[in-house]
Amino acid sequence: MLTDDKNYTSLISSYKEALAVLGAELLEIGCFDYQKAPVQLYGTIMGNGPTKVLITSGIHGEERAGPYGLLEFIKSDIQKYLDRFTFHIIPVINPIGFEKSERFGSSGMDINRLFDMPQTSPEVKITRNFLHHLQFQLFIDLHEDSDSDHVYLYESGDGLNDDLILAEDLNFLSLISKRGIGINQEPFIYGAVSRNGIVYKGYQTPGKSGEQIDGTIADYLLTSKRVIRAITLETPGKIEFNSRVRVQKDFLNFILAPK
Ligand SMILES: [Zn+2]
Repeated sequence: MLTDDKNYTSLISSYKEALAVLGAELLEIGCFDYQKAPVQLYGTIMGNGPTKVLITSGIHGEERAGPYGLLEFIKSDIQKYLDRFTFHIIPVINPIGFEKSERFGSSGMDINRLFDMPQTSPEVKITRNFLHHLQFQLFIDLHEDSDSDHVYLYESGDGLNDDLILAEDLNFLSLISKRGIGINQEPFIYGAVSRNGIVYKGYQTPGKSGEQIDGTIADYLLTSKRVIRAITLETPGKIEFNSRVRVQKDFLNFILAPK
């Protein structure tokens, strides 16, 4: 059983240990001052496969199952994907929020609304620098919905085989629901059209609210054509911590498994 520990330094130590076992390293990708103390952001690059995948988590500090689920995935599963993928991973984009268990970053704002304005957030600046000039086939962003007891996904598709991708997403959600975890069946999620727990870009009406949220990391990467497909997982913050961590880890395996 994992505990929901808010100590960023000890989480980072766990990442370092897990990566060292695999011969990989957690790199300091940037540093900024917060209340006169330095705060480090970390990332890693692993694998030598042809498909480039970016995984980020912990952009919203209170959504804690992401960083822990990703750690569990690295500990027990990532090794089997290293021949097929090259991973860029940032486990916690928002260390300040992580330690306070709150949504906002060092500037007191939602970092996931500032990706088109890097000067407003050191976390955005550092993340964008780390990703500079890189392109990815797949971007996975791990989130939670603190007010929800249901799982859902944001999916942009890759424009080539969206029907297959959506069927895959549905398969994942049905696997999760068999475990007794509810799927969000609302027709709209925060104003965006949703079907069977998937908020898909193709379901939205261009120009209508909910079509896209400006300034998210996914929006930034998609509109700058740095990623082909972006998928965001939202696990329910209202269910037990270990079940959420397991959904996060299983999701990564499900999406990356050979088809
Ligand atoms: Zn979030």
